[in-house]
Amino acid sequence: MMKVRFWGTRGSIATPGPSTMRYGGNTSCVELRSDDQIIIFDAGTGIRELGNHLLQEFKSRPLTLHIFISHTHWDHIQGFPFFFPAYESLNNVILYGPPGRDKSLERILQIQMDSDYFPVELGDMSPHIEVCEVRDTVKVGNLTIEHFYLNHPAMCLAYRVTDGRRTVVYATDNEPYTGTLHPVGGKKLKATDFPTYLDEKFVEFLSQADLYIGEAQYTQAEYEEKRGWGHSPLESTVQFAVQANVKRLALSHHDPLHDDTFLDRMIQDAKKLIAFYGGKVECLGAHEGMEIVIP
Ligand SMILES: [Zn+2]
Ligand SMILES: [Zn+2]
Repeated sequence: MMKVRFWGTRGSIATPGPSTMRYGGNTSCVELRSDDQIIIFDAGTGIRELGNHLLQEFKSRPLTLHIFISHTHWDHIQGFPFFFPAYESLNNVILYGPPGRDKSLERILQIQMDSDYFPVELGDMSPHIEVCEVRDTVKVGNLTIEHFYLNHPAMCLAYRVTDGRRTVVYATDNEPYTGTLHPVGGKKLKATDFPTYLDEKFVEFLSQADLYIGEAQYTQAEYEEKRGWGHSPLESTVQFAVQANVKRLALSHHDPLHDDTFLDRMIQDAKKLIAFYGGKVECLGAHEGMEIVIP
């Protein structure tokens, strides 16, 4: 079986406080377990609590942890310096992710721990930390991890993890390519144009997944004000999920302006949209501590 647990469900910046208690205030971090493999998507502030939990569970038993970073914006890496298993020399930590625009992934992670920003340098953590730029399919035990470049103002990857029977896709921070690459105000291109092709490829990437962890950072009205920021309106994410015929859609990476009441409403709207599009997708609002088991 696969077990998925959410440790950080917020996008952009941590938003603790009474109005975000239920969905959570920590930024992006999701844990996936399959047999004895532990995979982690993103190292936002949620990874701190995951780290404490792992140390409590495994005590001094050595761990191998595979962390797949979608991209290196703060909300996806800022928790790493507080991920205490990465300080234990018994543990192996392998960080995967895309290269930066003009810097290597390793360099970017080093810079966030430069002494002007943080008291401990990356090189002073466990000697068994490895940084791998993702260029090909990755194998972790019985798991195969494929990637897809998303439409975001950074090099940003989605990951599709499968054990051959169960599939989970982690794809936050994604704006439909057709949202930004179609000429604004000009005539619409034909259905065979490049942005449409890329969105179709994304649907193919999601196809038949047991769980699609996606984002709907904006309502359609908000999106009109924030086109080009690299995030999806609810309508697109739901449409992609329905077209790809995924079993479950977990909406995560919530906007810092959306409090619990607002998010309750968005999840209800997502369910209505799924019915409107004639889909059978089960939709969930991801909250800190939420666990999904794929038998
Ligand atoms: Zn983000
Ligand atoms: Zn980002």
